[in-house]
Amino acid sequence: MKRENNRSSWELVYEQFKPAQEGLREALCTLGNGYFGTRGAAPECVASRVHYPGTYLAGVYNKLATNIAGRTVFNEDLVNCPNWLFLTFRIGRSAWVDPSIEKILSYRQQLDMQTGILNRKIRLRSRWGQTTIIETERIVHMADPHRAVLRYVIIPENYEGWITIKSGLDGTVQNTGVARYRQLNSRHLRPHSLGSFGRSSSYLCVKTSQSGVKISQAAKVHIFSQGKQLKPVSKILTKQNKAIYQEFKIFVRKQRRYEIEKIVSIYTSRDKDVRDSLSAAISSAKSSPGFNALLKTHKRAWSALWKEFDIRVEGDAFVQKILRLHTFHLLQSASIHNTKIDAGFPVRGLHGEAYRGHIFWDRLFATSFFDLHAPEISKALFLYRYRRLAQARKYARENWYRGAMFPWQSGSTGEEETQVVHLNPISGKWGPDYSCNQRHISFAIVYNVWQYWCRSGDLDFLARYGAEILLSIARFGAGLAQYNSKDGRYHTEGIMGPDEFHERFPGAPRPGFRDNAYTNLLIVWTLLRARETLAILPQKHKARILKKLGLNQRELTRWEYITRKMNLIVNADGIISQFDGYFSLKELDWPAYRAKYGKIHRIERILKAEGKSPNEYKVAKQADVLMIFYLFPLNEISDLLRRLGYKFDKDILKKNYQYYIKRTSHGSTLSKVVHCYLAHLLGKSQEAWDWFLKVLKSDIYDTQGGTTPEGIHTGVMGGSIDITFRGFAGINLVDDRIRIEPRLPKHWSSVRLSLRYRKSRFFICITKSQIIILRHGPKSKTIRIPVEVSGRLYYLRPGKTYKIALKKRR
Ligand code: BGC
Repeated sequence: MKRENNRSSWELVYEQFKPAQEGLREALCTLGNGYFGTRGAAPECVASRVHYPGTYLAGVYNKLATNIAGRTVFNEDLVNCPNWLFLTFRIGRSAWVDPSIEKILSYRQQLDMQTGILNRKIRLRSRWGQTTIIETERIVHMADPHRAVLRYVIIPENYEGWITIKSGLDGTVQNTGVARYRQLNSRHLRPHSLGSFGRSSSYLCVKTSQSGVKISQAAKVHIFSQGKQLKPVSKILTKQNKAIYQEFKIFVRKQRRYEIEKIVSIYTSRDKDVRDSLSAAISSAKSSPGFNALLKTHKRAWSALWKEFDIRVEGDAFVQKILRLHTFHLLQSASIHNTKIDAGFPVRGLHGEAYRGHIFWDRLFATSFFDLHAPEISKALFLYRYRRLAQARKYARENWYRGAMFPWQSGSTGEEETQVVHLNPISGKWGPDYSCNQRHISFAIVYNVWQYWCRSGDLDFLARYGAEILLSIARFGAGLAQYNSKDGRYHTEGIMGPDEFHERFPGAPRPGFRDNAYTNLLIVWTLLRARETLAILPQKHKARILKKLGLNQRELTRWEYITRKMNLIVNADGIISQFDGYFSLKELDWPAYRAKYGKIHRIERILKAEGKSPNEYKVAKQADVLMIFYLFPLNEISDLLRRLGYKFDKDILKKNYQYYIKRTSHGSTLSKVVHCYLAHLLGKSQEAWDWFLKVLKSDIYDTQGGTTPEGIHTGVMGGSIDITFRGFAGINLVDDRIRIEPRLPKHWSSVRLSLRYRKSRFFICITKSQIIILRHGPKSKTIRIPVEVSGRLYYLRPGKTYKIALKKRR
């Protein structure tokens, strides 16, 4: 095994307790399985300035009203569910152990990403001189999504006597993980029932106050020493009918090991196949195997996932580690268990409360990740959207459109969940939030549907779900486009692109812009895909869908016109205008703002706090026009532009990149992904590399300064994998073939990865001089998948390894 693949690339290790770092570590050490996630908080703690224990169940939301800034606002949160982890002890009658206030003699916390285990070993000294070693190990089971286990070992080093162990299921928790939201109501849980069963087990059932979801947890606690199970008497305590604690008193001897196993089961009333969540939780806890057996099946599940998803990079230990970190967290945020639940791709994982656990467009950046490894997960994430198609139609109707308009932020029902006011932490003022005008979200869903279809060849999916989503969104897109007989072009109005700093044109009465280029082009592309879909669909499905949607030839003809006459604004230098009027905005004095404020990635907050408006300046939060080049290859952009009657300038990418990069503050981590990929396409290898490091460092070092503790950024994590695939490894799935044009960073000697494409699996190793490929899959002649390398096509037979020499780059 080479150095890069040694243990350290699988681990996050913290050798000291640092209170200021704890929030970040809790997010980075979150364990999850797609069904739920639990932050890597210390078991002994409750929410405080240092700690924030959080458990989030995918899709479990609750909406509360708050009076703020003179109005009543409603916010739907991914609910912080009862803290199942709580466990501590005390020696004699002294205070309950809390490592953050004890004298810590040694400390080591380790996340093992290969096995999905979080360990901590600490040595504490009490005020009275007693030293204790505490070893904890925990898992959130990857094979059985309803289970979690904590093993808590106590070794009294220099004392003996009575200790009391206290284990709890704590439903008094609230959603207070994000400082900016603390003025908003955050008590989501109401008591339902609690109690004990057996001699050492307890349960808690709470109900969300508005959505009425029952959340049931059951915990079985066993204590062992010297291979024997102890049977201490237990005492039950409760708090506000929302928390239940069990206390066990045991006599401990010096230097002996006392192992406490807390096995927890979690079910909710949203689970399909479960009649009563509480009985399900109790019976699952009762029948659960012990820690070691659970560990074994958990490790096996992770090992199978790594076989599928691991990317091995030789020559760069940091990259290796962070790609694994990103893979690890993506798999914990959405997994194969999503096929059994109704949940989307959470932008901050199941790791924290930022953006209230909502679903945005960020899956666009993780398409390679899911489509190429586990298409079942991609499909499950689409079904989350498909089930909300009726709501998207309603949303469109409410805004006087036809078709389906998906909300910018989506939660449980598929209604628009974007907040209407937001707090500017710099000025302390609440102001309106117009980001829901980002209509591009719907077309991002089409992009995902299309990618999935192209990569999987899953016609059944397209016929049953994909086509209906796509055509409904196409109809909405066509409705956004309005014909103007003066210039003979179609225009859109009232729309924001991904750049959220620009909310309305200076002086305009209503928010949004005319002709956001990114959205306009996406509409055209969507309409073309709609046409293609109708051509692909088997006749009976086509007829059924056309009838269901009431689509007729007249409407399709109008769509065709739009694909030829949608408006874009391109200036004489070949720069695509972000929206109509963009070029007339003022330039910002970037050096002056940098000198005055240092970090200016949230320049809009600075400008607003200064009493100015970002609307007046050429300042973008993130890639907007440039998104076009991130999503589509240049030849496709050229076809689109020519079709619309615009000239295609061969330097279009370079010119637009250079123009917009100077005017972007990268207030979103997604921006770094886009700029990295484009710099790579432009052959700016050093610049691409610098961006790539920024992408990789975003979460591990919390480079935005405080956002990662509130939840990881799944978009940027997916983006890092996308750049590795489409960028450095140069793997693009185009026109029914796999094209490989690698350009590895100088110091990488090789990259190994695998991917699934049309029912076959490919194992690919790319070095500087060759590509080695092995294809596994059906031998059928009908599934011929050409692989294109350096302009030559290779038809790979399953089971055979091919070595293809690469031409030396000059
Ligand atoms: C970005 C959005 C993104 C959201 C969630 C925002 O800061 O501007 O593009 O979807 O974060 O990650």
